[in-house]
Amino acid sequence: MVATQPRVGVLALQGDVREHARVLSALGAEVALVKRAEQLAAVDGLVLPGGESSVIDKLARAFGLQQPIRAVIAGGTPVYGTCAGLILLADRIDDAIAGQESFGGLDVTVQRNAFGSQVDSFETDLEVDGFDTPTHATFIRAPRVVAVGPAARAIATLGNGEVVAVAQGNLLGTAFHPEVTGETRFHELFLERVRSA
Ligand code: GLN
Repeated sequence: MVATQPRVGVLALQGDVREHARVLSALGAEVALVKRAEQLAAVDGLVLPGGESSVIDKLARAFGLQQPIRAVIAGGTPVYGTCAGLILLADRIDDAIAGQESFGGLDVTVQRNAFGSQVDSFETDLEVDGFDTPTHATFIRAPRVVAVGPAARAIATLGNGEVVAVAQGNLLGTAFHPEVTGETRFHELFLERVRSA
């Protein structure tokens, strides 16, 4: 039997976990804050929050979550990553700190902190493939996608052509943070995939 209320996890090692949980709950999902590998078996979708990708990576490996999350991604479970979460989904990180790894899955190369430091954070309106109206996007020490491989597809770019949102099969990544601006369409898209997966 298919549950009507999708059960999704938010990786809860570091970052803006609560913001994602709030949006997902408001959209009718049952949300688990994932801190241990066993919890992954009980969710049908996973969100990787914004935060600090190198810290989330380190904690994920320390808690034995890296391989289980890689298996979730490879198994076709819908996964949505924002900012640090996008970096964690990227197959290649241009400027990773020493020893930093990603979960991978998205055929892209990202560059961390591509727009400068916290003070260089900015907001802008963006057209997104499949959306009727632009999204108001908030960039906080955001990465940019410097290369999109053949398996992935850019779904939003800045005015200068820089790619800031990508989709590939079950995976979705945005360099910005819809979870902090009241934009729900990316989470809706994610939950639609969870429901039909
Ligand atoms: N700069 C952070 C990183 O490298 C990402 C920032 C964010 O998630 N807002 O992980």
